[in-house]
Amino acid sequence: MQLIDGKATSNAIKLEIAEEVRKLTAAGGKKPHLAAILVGEDGASRTYVNHKVKSCEQVGFKSTLCKFDADITEEALLQTIDELNNDDDIDGFIVQLPLPKHINETKVTEAIDPNKDVDGFHPTNLGKMMLGLPTFLPATPYGIIQLLDRYGIETSGKKCVIVGRSHIVGTPMSLLMSRNSKVGNCTVTLTHSRTKDLKKECLEADILIAALGKAEFVTADMVKEGAVIVDVGITRIEDASKKSGFTLKGDVKFDEVSEKASWITPVPGGVGPMTVVSLLMNTLESVKRKTVKETV
Ligand code: NDP
Repeated sequence: MQLIDGKATSNAIKLEIAEEVRKLTAAGGKKPHLAAILVGEDGASRTYVNHKVKSCEQVGFKSTLCKFDADITEEALLQTIDELNNDDDIDGFIVQLPLPKHINETKVTEAIDPNKDVDGFHPTNLGKMMLGLPTFLPATPYGIIQLLDRYGIETSGKKCVIVGRSHIVGTPMSLLMSRNSKVGNCTVTLTHSRTKDLKKECLEADILIAALGKAEFVTADMVKEGAVIVDVGITRIEDASKKSGFTLKGDVKFDEVSEKASWITPVPGGVGPMTVVSLLMNTLESVKRKTVKETV
C-alpha cells in the first residue's frame, strides 16, 4: 500500500500559489482576496473556515471573514452576498454550508456571482463543468482530481465506483471521472442509499471514492485487491482522550482496507487539505481571468 498524502500535496501546491502571488504583486497587481461567510456556531464549520482563512495567509492572499449569528435573516445574508458580488477587491467568496434551516441554501448559492463562486456550486458553473467548459470546479472533487493527477494514478479505462451522490461531492465527481480528460476516462458507477448490492458494486472498483459520511463504513471485504481508495468522509467521533474531545474518522476502515489497497488517502491528511487548496486555486484563477480581461 502507498499513501496518497493530501497534506504534503496541498503544501506543495500552496508553495506554487505563493510563488504566483509573489510574481503578480511584483508586477504591480493586487493580492488575491478570498472572503468567507460563516453563519452560526457549528464547530466543524468554524474549523473549516478557520483553515481556509489560515491558508490564505500562508499563500499571501488577503482574506475577509464575514461572521453572522445563526438567526440572521435570509434577506440580510442575500444583502451581504450582493455586497461581495459588487466589491471589486473580492476575487472570490464562499458561503460555508450547512446554513440554518430558515435559510434557503439554493437561493443563497444562486445569488453568488458565478465569476466569484470559487466553491463551484453555482448552477452556471456546474453546467459549464458538465459541458467541459472552463469553470471553477467544485472544491472537493477538484482536490481529488489534483491528487490522482499528481500521484500519476492511471484512470483511463478503469472502473470507478463512487459511494454518495451529493451535489457537492459524489455527483460532480462522477462527471469528472467519466469525462475525456487526463484524469478521467473511467467507467463510472454512482451509488447511493438505494443501491441494491453496494458490496458487489464496490468489489468491482479499480478506483473507489467513498463520500457517504458514515464512519468506517467501507470494510476490507468490500474492496478489490489493488484498488485505489479515496476517502472523502469526515465524521467527528467523541474521544475523551483528545484535547478537542473528538477524533476524526473517514468513511473507510483504514487499517484493514489499506492492507488490500494499492493507494489510499488517510483521514485526516487526505482529501480535506486538498479541498482548502482548491479554493485557493480557484481564487487565483479568478484573478488571472480578470487580468486577462483587463489587458485585452
Ligand atoms: P451528504 O450527506 O450530502 O450525502 C451523502 C450521500 O451518501 C448521499 O447520496 C446518500 O445517499 C449516500 N449514502 C448515505 N448512506 C449510505 C449508505 N449506507 N449506502 C450508500 N450510500 C449512502 O454528504 P456529503 O457529500 O456532503 O459529504 C459526505 C462526507 O464527506 C461527509 O462525511 C462530509 O463531512 C465529508 N466531506 C468532506 C470534505 C473534505 O474536504 N474532505 C468536503 C465535503 C464533505 P442518498 O442520496 O440516497 O441519501
